Amino acid sequence: MSQPRGIARRGVAAVYHGALMVIEAMPVSMVRVLACLFLIARFAAGESAREFSEWTESGFADAGQRILDSTEIYPRGRPSLEYRLDATVLYARGTSWTQARAIRQIRRTAAILEPCGITLGSVRLVRLRLDPGQRRIDAALADPDSGVPPGVDSLSAALPLGARYPAAFLIGRVDGSESLAVSYRAEDEHGPQAKYFNTAWIGYQAHWLPRPDDRYSPLAHEVAHLLCRCGHTRSAKRHLLHEARNFLSSEVLPEHCKRFKTSPLLSASP
Ligand SMILES: [Zn+2]
Repeated sequence: MSQPRGIARRGVAAVYHGALMVIEAMPVSMVRVLACLFLIARFAAGESAREFSEWTESGFADAGQRILDSTEIYPRGRPSLEYRLDATVLYARGTSWTQARAIRQIRRTAAILEPCGITLGSVRLVRLRLDPGQRRIDAALADPDSGVPPGVDSLSAALPLGARYPAAFLIGRVDGSESLAVSYRAEDEHGPQAKYFNTAWIGYQAHWLPRPDDRYSPLAHEVAHLLCRCGHTRSAKRHLLHEARNFLSSEVLPEHCKRFKTSPLLSASP
């Protein structure tokens, strides 16, 4: 072990001396510019390290994350609308979810909410490395009092304090229920708040299942439950919160739009 380390140290020293000679040969103005660039790079690295540790230290080992660029959500430019929704979307590695598939769901959700006057603002995309057992939730194991399965409880509890809600987890499977996705909304906004409130859990099957309307999104459906604080509505018309799976579409009923706008999850657009 000692020999390779010694060689590496000599190598570092040689590079250092070489760099010093190059700097000495430079005009003073160029040295100043380089020093500034070095400081900016250090500052940027410090910022990203701080953001990264917020997630890794919360128990999401090896979580990669970034805020999406607005052109990734709105390829033709972000519309200027009355309300803004910030969100966190987390997808589990080792499932069929990928960054591209997650972004496709986010784009469709943005397009579905647009006619209601809501834009997606800051969306943080987080890639999680989860144990195989954590990549599925089982509704049959739900706590009889809270109605929440243990996997939902533990992953939500680990969300960092600064996480934006709604927080949608794109996971492998939702078992123990007819649904391919579930979400948890507070019955009473003024009552005690649990960290699983305003979280959504979307199994991969919900993504690839063929739909009559290809603009529909299971992510938008679960976000809609959270925004309107309501369940499904039966109607003759297809819409986003229909109770029958083959009547689901990207259309939002006017009464649902109206309720979305009263959601505490929204903020007024600047
Ligand atoms: Zn639903």
